[in-house]
Amino acid sequence: MRDTFYPRVKKMLDLSHLPDNLYKQSAWGHSRVWDKQARAAGYTPEAIDGIWNWDVVRKESRFWNRRSATVGESNHGNANGAKFDVTQNYLKYAEESGFTKVYSGTQVKGISQDANGIYLVEVEQMDPMGEILDKYTSSCGRLFMAAGSIGTTELLLRARERGDLPKLNEHVGEGWGTNGDAALFVRLHHLGALHRQLYPPVKFIMCLLICRLPCKIGTPFKCLLIRKLFLI
Ligand SMILES: Cc1cc2nc3c(=O)[nH]c(=O)nc-3n(C[C@H](O)[C@H](O)[C@H](O)COP(=O)(O)OP(=O)(O)OC[C@H]3O[C@@H](n4cnc5c(N)ncnc54)[C@H](O)[C@@H]3O)c2cc1C
Repeated sequence: MRDTFYPRVKKMLDLSHLPDNLYKQSAWGHSRVWDKQARAAGYTPEAIDGIWNWDVVRKESRFWNRRSATVGESNHGNANGAKFDVTQNYLKYAEESGFTKVYSGTQVKGISQDANGIYLVEVEQMDPMGEILDKYTSSCGRLFMAAGSIGTTELLLRARERGDLPKLNEHVGEGWGTNGDAALFVRLHHLGALHRQLYPPVKFIMCLLICRLPCKIGTPFKCLLIRKLFLI
C-alpha cells in the first residue's frame, strides 16, 4: 500500500498539503486550534495530503472567484473547481478512454435477470429538480454495481425480496455501513470519580454502545453522554 498503491494514487490525484501562507489565514483557524491542542497534549501534528488546487483556493481569499473551499464547501461539494474531484480525474479519464460513458441524472430503480441470464436495469432519467423525464430498461451480460454501501445494498435487497434476483443469499442486507467519520477523545488525566469506579474496558464498551445509538439521537447528544461518562 505504502510503496505501490499510495504513490500511484498520489500521482493520479496530484496530492499536496496545505501551503503555509494559507494555513495562516482565517479560514484555517480550526486547523491551528487543532494543532495547538495536539501539541499541548504532547503530539506532533503533521499536515496530511489533500486533493486541492491551492491556486484556485488562493484566488478565493483575494475575492477573484466564487468563495467555496474557504467557506466550508469541502466534504459535501465544492463549487469552483478547487477540489480535484472525480469529475476532473478518474471519470474524465474513463470517458476519454472511449470505453465509458457517464449518464448523469439517472437513477437505477431495480435490477433483475431474464430467462437467458441477461441483467435488466430499470432506469429513471431526472432533471436537476428531480422531475422524471424518461424511464427505460438497459440490458447487459455482466453488471458491476458501485452505488455505495447503502445504494448497492438497497438495490440488491429489493431484487432478492421481489424475487428479481432470487439466487442472492441471506447475507445481503447485513454488514453495511455509512463509513461516516467518528472520532472519540478522552482526556485521561481529567477523569473523575466515575473513572475510578468503572473498569476501563467497561467504559470503552459503553462508549462504543453510545456511538452505535440511532443517528436521530444526534452526534452532540452522543458526545455529551461520552463526556458525562468520563466526567470531562
Ligand atoms: C462525511 C464523510 C467524509 C469522508 N471522508 C473521507 C476521507 O477524508 N477520506 C476517505 O478516504 N474517505 C472518506 N469518506 C469515505 C468515502 O467517502 C467512501 O468510502 C467512498 O466514497 C465510497 O465510495 P463508493 O464509490 O463505494 O460509494 P459512493 O462514493 O457513496 O458512490 C456511490 C454513488 O452511487 C450513487 N447511487 C446510489 N444509489 C444509486 C442508484 N439507485 N442509482 C444510481 N446511482 C446511485 C450515489 O449517488 C453515489 O454517487 C468519507 C465519508 C463521509 C460520509
